[in-house]
Amino acid sequence: MAIMKAFSNLSKRPFRRQDESRSMQETTPMSESVQRDCRPRLTMVIPCHNEEQVLNEAATRLCGVLDELAQEKLIAEAAVFFVDDGSTDDTWGLIEQLAANDSRFHGLKLSRNFGQQSAILAGLLTVPGDILISIDADLQDDVAAIKEMVLANAGGADVVYGIRRNRKTDSFFKRTTAEGFYSLLQAMGVQLIFNHADYRLLSRRVVEELRKCKESNLLLRGLIPQLGFPSALVYYDRHSRFAGDSKYPVSKMVALAVNGITSFTEIPLKFITILGMVISLFSFGLAAWALIAKILHAASVPGWASIVIPLYMLGGVQLLSLGVIGQYLAKIYSEAKGRPRFIVEKNL
Ligand code: UDP
Ligand code: MG
Repeated sequence: MAIMKAFSNLSKRPFRRQDESRSMQETTPMSESVQRDCRPRLTMVIPCHNEEQVLNEAATRLCGVLDELAQEKLIAEAAVFFVDDGSTDDTWGLIEQLAANDSRFHGLKLSRNFGQQSAILAGLLTVPGDILISIDADLQDDVAAIKEMVLANAGGADVVYGIRRNRKTDSFFKRTTAEGFYSLLQAMGVQLIFNHADYRLLSRRVVEELRKCKESNLLLRGLIPQLGFPSALVYYDRHSRFAGDSKYPVSKMVALAVNGITSFTEIPLKFITILGMVISLFSFGLAAWALIAKILHAASVPGWASIVIPLYMLGGVQLLSLGVIGQYLAKIYSEAKGRPRFIVEKNL
């Protein structure tokens, strides 16, 4: 089993949680060997959907960083888990090859495409390690930030958020829609960290708390800040994808945004209530005005516009409101079904 294979040479000594080791470090004078034990075991979690063009290069670049961390004695050991999220190309074949050639590489194969959020969750909830870092397979997020994340963790942060310094490499469309996404969600009260996506470090105790969150409508970047724990920010420059195309079409981006809004805020429902109240008050005022005009015999020109326009407007508002309420109902429905958020078919 992969969990046994990864860090297999650690199995001879009892597993000690990082936070426990840290408190020991503070209280007991330690020998060199104990100090070595206190360094965290790092696991990288990489969601992959049709990434055959980038996998080998990603593996090479990651190896460079992990070797450096090990040489500088910042980590005890490292493992890399590629999570194949229902790829239809040769992604899984490449993961198998990587795992066969280097004991640090492992793979989780999901039974179908569950989406990036579920793929990351599958990795986080399945893999071993004291600290877990999730990063996209195309390595658009700078791998140099991994070291800063590990250092921030050593400094006491259980959650380290990778933040894009800028989006110069994104297309105009991607940049505006992505920044609009963060602004909209923040305006609606969702606790999001601006320009942080899914490049982050989590300590084991945060992952264990994440395990208790059973929601199937996932937006990890909204959920993790709600767990609390000491956190730190690490800034990096975002590069262009070095091969292949984006696996995030507009439909997936819209779904992610709708998920973020309906999973974390009731503001649209409140907005509908307020809109309904304003329109009702307005129509009461209009009725009062019509009554007064009738009593005073004031000249009023009856026109179709005054009838037809409000009809269309109110019809539109009602349909929109029903749609928003329907989104929340759909969320409740899918949560109530309690279906698995991911299914692991193979574990390397
Ligand atoms: N991804 C995934 N499942 C999906 C879509 C994407 O696991 O259904 C992975 C993809 O392989 C990549 C990461 O999520 O590692 C981010 O996707 P991508 O780079 O295409 O998104 P973008 O950077 O264009 O937003
Ligand atoms: Mg990308």
